Amino acid sequence: MSTSPHPRAVTDRLVAANAEYATSFTDPGMDAAPVLNVAVVACMDARIDLHAALGLRLGDCHTIRNAGGVVTDDVIRSLTISQRALGTRSVVLIHHTDCGLMKLTEDFRHDLELEVGQRPSWAVESFRDVDQDVRQSIERVRTSPFLPHTDDVRGFVFDVTTGLLREIAPGIAPGK
Ligand SMILES: [Zn+2]
Repeated sequence: MSTSPHPRAVTDRLVAANAEYATSFTDPGMDAAPVLNVAVVACMDARIDLHAALGLRLGDCHTIRNAGGVVTDDVIRSLTISQRALGTRSVVLIHHTDCGLMKLTEDFRHDLELEVGQRPSWAVESFRDVDQDVRQSIERVRTSPFLPHTDDVRGFVFDVTTGLLREIAPGIAPGK
């Protein structure tokens, strides 16, 4: 294992990389609405390069990421804005193999409360069965009353060892 750089040095490195990036950056003259009218909700896992893995280019999509790629209220907030204000229609959900949330339980929340004396308002949303968690995420999107477009919602598991997506068939959809 390599030793980690000083925490502050990491951000300095990013800022330096940005200065380099900007030297060859030209204004793409794009509108904020995603070209492919799609929003991708994915885990924040460092091993998933969403644009490369899905053949996406700058301006193509909205990417909404959090720990687990969980469809939380805040993800619904972003999807609602994505669809109603910026014209997206399709939703792609991506969980993955070896997700950190499979190694946690709701004890994480309990232990945290004991440590800091305050109960977090959020659920950990840990899971054991990644396929089932994708199905649950699909259902949360499909049944959201705030989203006008729920006919093209598909969920996948990304294999971090092969780079391949595996599609998960949705559960029996309740009538909306
Ligand atoms: Zn993950």
